[in-house]
Amino acid sequence: MSTPSPTTATGSTRAIEIRDLHKSFGKNEVLKGIDFHVDQGEVVCVIGPSGSGKSTLLRCVNRLEEPDSGQVVVEGIDITDPETDLDKVRTRIGIVFQQFNLFPHMTVIDNLVVAQRKVLKRSKAEALATARAMLEKVGLSDKEEAYPAHLSGGQQQRVAIARALSMSPDMMLFDEPTSALDPELVGDVLDVMRELAAEGMTMMVVTHEMGFAREVGDKLVFMDDGVIVEEGVPEEVLANPQHERTQAFLSKVL
Ligand code: ADP
Ligand code: MG
Repeated sequence: MSTPSPTTATGSTRAIEIRDLHKSFGKNEVLKGIDFHVDQGEVVCVIGPSGSGKSTLLRCVNRLEEPDSGQVVVEGIDITDPETDLDKVRTRIGIVFQQFNLFPHMTVIDNLVVAQRKVLKRSKAEALATARAMLEKVGLSDKEEAYPAHLSGGQQQRVAIARALSMSPDMMLFDEPTSALDPELVGDVLDVMRELAAEGMTMMVVTHEMGFAREVGDKLVFMDDGVIVEEGVPEEVLANPQHERTQAFLSKVL
């Protein structure tokens, strides 16, 4: 890394820092001044009702959405600055969506190799070795030559995670990674994410899995209607929500 990351008062390093972020779609103001951060090695879970702006917030982190105002700083680099080499910053951020978005015409191993070759310019041998290591990590070494359509949803999502990890990102963003899965397939995906967290991966996870948030999250953020209503230690927020809107939401999902 060429640019040193800023260090916080507590000595931890900021992976993501968002300041006074605003975003509208037409007249619909979706993010109404968000201040948010994730420290290196931290797992931050984001919960909230549908339409509250969770995905938009996550997508602003690598400028899949263009913020209207405010700052998004990733590892000390302001990605809202037009001078910033966005592609370079993006390679440090792995993203996993609800829909797995694998390339359907490519085998699993090719799905993992292609961006390493094209974007990172890795040699074929290195890309293959990395891909295989990541497939092993998600427990799918035997599926190298399979096509996505022949895998279960849970397996496809684990491949999507392995593909993101193959790019050797510094942090991983997850947008409801288990929401499209049959209930019996959710556990394997959460296990992979739990292991990643235990290895110290920096993670921002939009999820409805409150058990995961409680066990794995260092911080829980509750969003509603474009603002962060409440945040804190997951166990405390879940057991003793301070805000009436958080209480109302949790009473529906817990
Ligand atoms: P969440 O992920 O919490 O369900 P989203 O961030 O997806 O919420 O959406 C927040 C609001 O922004 C919703 O009202 C949604 O309809 C709107 N929205 C999201 N993306 C777009 C878009 N590309 N164009 C127009 N409106 C959008
Ligand atoms: Mg969403």
